[in-house]
Amino acid sequence: MIDLRSDTVTQPTDKMRERMFSAKVGDDVYEDDETVKKLEEYASDLLGKEAALFVPSGTFGNQLALFTHTNRGDEVIVSHDSHILYHEVGAASVIAGVQLRSIECFGGRYDIKKLENSIREDDIHYPKTSLICVENAHGNGSVISTGKMSEIYDLSRKKEVPVHLDGARIFNAATSLGVDVKDIAKYADSVMFCLSKGLCAPVGSMLLGTKEFIEKARKKRKLMGGGLRQVGFLAEAGLVALEEMVERLKEDHDNIIYLADKLDKIEEIKIIRERLDINMVFFMLDESIIKENDFVSYLLNKGIKINGTEDGEYRLVTNNDISKENLDYVMKTIKECLS
Ligand SMILES: *Cc1c(COP(=O)(O)O)cnc(C)c1O
Repeated sequence: MIDLRSDTVTQPTDKMRERMFSAKVGDDVYEDDETVKKLEEYASDLLGKEAALFVPSGTFGNQLALFTHTNRGDEVIVSHDSHILYHEVGAASVIAGVQLRSIECFGGRYDIKKLENSIREDDIHYPKTSLICVENAHGNGSVISTGKMSEIYDLSRKKEVPVHLDGARIFNAATSLGVDVKDIAKYADSVMFCLSKGLCAPVGSMLLGTKEFIEKARKKRKLMGGGLRQVGFLAEAGLVALEEMVERLKEDHDNIIYLADKLDKIEEIKIIRERLDINMVFFMLDESIIKENDFVSYLLNKGIKINGTEDGEYRLVTNNDISKENLDYVMKTIKECLS
């Protein structure tokens, strides 16, 4: 199977499997697991943050950040198509008990005036604005420049509202911008990133911030059921992900351009050029040409897995398990299908 549904589908590498086998582990609720400690230190050094915490998933990490930064009834600013608003099952209202205020903008690039106007003044009618969320790389396949990040952060300092960065794919963003990942992370008070996407670890994400923030988050993680015991097995795979799999992301980005250029030559397919910054290509294919179910099942019968559309768009994602040869076969099959 050639699986283009996501980069979450990646298999752990042989090295990960080997090192997991012999990982030193302990009970991390007692803070006895030296491997998870090593991973947390490695991650905080890499991102230039004081402390880090292993969490089971990206959604868990984002929601834990909201839960730690805010109080019940507060308001959190997000972009209209952010993961936190769109893809986290409404968790913000259940766990942190906050209200999300969404701002319409392309790829999470807030207009600074609009953002400033959305931060609440002190008024008896208003909830308190206690967090601004930024997503980079954005789930729509585009990346926010460090200039924009810094503008948002400057405003957040002025207004004394912290910034949480949903950096599920922060290493893709850094690769695309050609900057050190620290130069993105420095524009946020807390950062979440995923080990289990393009970096190929089987499970896990990291939440980072100040020592004080992470200590508070550690207790709330326990409340959420995320106090894990011999988690060093997963942390060992996470270490391999950070040590060995970051540089490789460039290949996924090159492969997506390779694929996009070929898709672009097919008349029936309309790719979205301005959102090709990372390992994703989005395109439209009119229902009058082929029905979504027929397209998806044709490819599936030929050994290619893709998702159906979201908001009318197909999304293909490259990853460590997808080669250029695989993409040539995908192109051949799509052409066959459409003819
Ligand atoms: C994948 C993703 C998440 C959530 O990660 P899970 O591990 O799937 O819960 C959060 N934000 C963004 C932008 C993502 O792409």
